[in-house]
Amino acid sequence: MSLYHAWAQKELTLTYTSGKSYNPKALARINSFLRDYQTGQVHRIDPKLLDILWVIQQEMGCKGVYSVVSAFRSPQTNRKLQRTTSGVASHSLHMEGRAIDIKFSGVNLAQVRQCAMALQTGGVGYYPKSGFVHLDTGDYRTW
Ligand SMILES: [Zn+2]
Repeated sequence: MSLYHAWAQKELTLTYTSGKSYNPKALARINSFLRDYQTGQVHRIDPKLLDILWVIQQEMGCKGVYSVVSAFRSPQTNRKLQRTTSGVASHSLHMEGRAIDIKFSGVNLAQVRQCAMALQTGGVGYYPKSGFVHLDTGDYRTW
C-alpha cells in the first residue's frame, strides 16, 4: 500500500500484512509516518484502519496513492483544530489513532466515499469542500 502525507510531503510504500498477520515492523513505520507532525507525537495506529484503506483501494480497482490529510492528532493539535475548523469533535477518534482523513489520487472523492459506505464498517465522513473523506474504525455511521 502506498500513502502520501500531504503535511509532511513524504511517501511511504510498504506491505503491512501478509493477509494472515500484521508485520510489526511495517506497523511501527506506519505509526511514525502517521504521527502528529505538529507536536511530533507518535501513537499506535489501529491496523483495522489500514485494512479499510486496503479494501477500498481494491474495490476501486486502481493503483492510486492515498493522500493523507490528517491521521493521529494529539489532544493539543485537536484543540487547536477545534478553534480554527468547524466539525472537529472534542473526542475525536483521531486522538486514538483510529481515524484518518484522506483522498485518493485519480479518483473522484464521491467514489471513495461510496466505496467506504458499501463496506458498512466504521465511520465515513464526507468533506467535499475540504477535499477529503474521513474514515475511522468506530461503529458504522455516515455524515
Ligand atoms: Zn477526520
